[in-house]
Amino acid sequence: MTNFTNKSYQLKFNIVDKAKDLGINLVGFAPVDRWGKFEETSAEYYPQNIWPEMKTVIVFATQIFLPMLETTPSVVYSELYNTTNRVLDETAYKIANYLNTLGHQAIFFPRDCYGDISVLVRKPVAAFSHVLAAKYAGLGTIGYNHTLLTKEFGPRVRLVSVLTNAVIPPDQVIKKDLCIKCEMCRKCCPTSSFETTENLVADMNKTRCAEYHAKLKSAYCYPCGVCIKVCPIGDDRKIYGYDSKKYLNERKALEKNINDPEYAGWVHCRDHGSNPIE
Ligand code: SF4
Ligand code: SF4
Repeated sequence: MTNFTNKSYQLKFNIVDKAKDLGINLVGFAPVDRWGKFEETSAEYYPQNIWPEMKTVIVFATQIFLPMLETTPSVVYSELYNTTNRVLDETAYKIANYLNTLGHQAIFFPRDCYGDISVLVRKPVAAFSHVLAAKYAGLGTIGYNHTLLTKEFGPRVRLVSVLTNAVIPPDQVIKKDLCIKCEMCRKCCPTSSFETTENLVADMNKTRCAEYHAKLKSAYCYPCGVCIKVCPIGDDRKIYGYDSKKYLNERKALEKNINDPEYAGWVHCRDHGSNPIE
């Protein structure tokens, strides 16, 4: 077992403090040996095999405000997505820079890391999984819909990771799955991309999901986010409530009557600032 110095605890405290000041909601720390312990991805995706000197992965999460997400597909959600990306990019850069000034090696793995949706349609896999990193850093567990579910915001978070050779006290991995397998995400997915129900984490048609995203991107209302919008998990539900019937009925109700007053605000946002989806 590693014995951590007071200095390493102080460093952890300072990183969390700085990140919160920059607008980050959740921070977690994972030692790189957790990738090998869990063996949930092949070895070439382990952080220490991409950058051999690295000892700790620090994962940062920003929340996605539910009422803005509920308007998806819309430019309102699209702009929120861009804003969370800016906060994540800036935080990752500044924290890596801070660690550098203290004499540690530090870099960040950019949060999405693909050039264009067409690349994802061809190969829907990232070079590094922030979702796995966040699980190993104790921020949440992986749900049926392949996203990280957190106690605080359910799957409504965006993630980025800083890698450093500093040895920093880790956070505990959450043992009990937060996903209750209600399958709301499967039932509401506009492309029926979740194809199996036997396992806790669904087999997913990532290409079909990516192809839909290509259409959203050209209509300026990217990304989709329905599978995180409808998930009941997260303390943010205590603020915003949960109406599963409204989510489940949405598609049929709007096919029947686009002016259905229950959805007026969402339709209003979709009607402005983006094009119809082809
Ligand atoms: S919507 Fe239900 S099944 Fe899907 S991730 Fe959330 S809790 Fe799990
Ligand atoms: S992002 Fe949208 S299309 Fe892709 S799996 Fe989730 S709900 Fe389905």
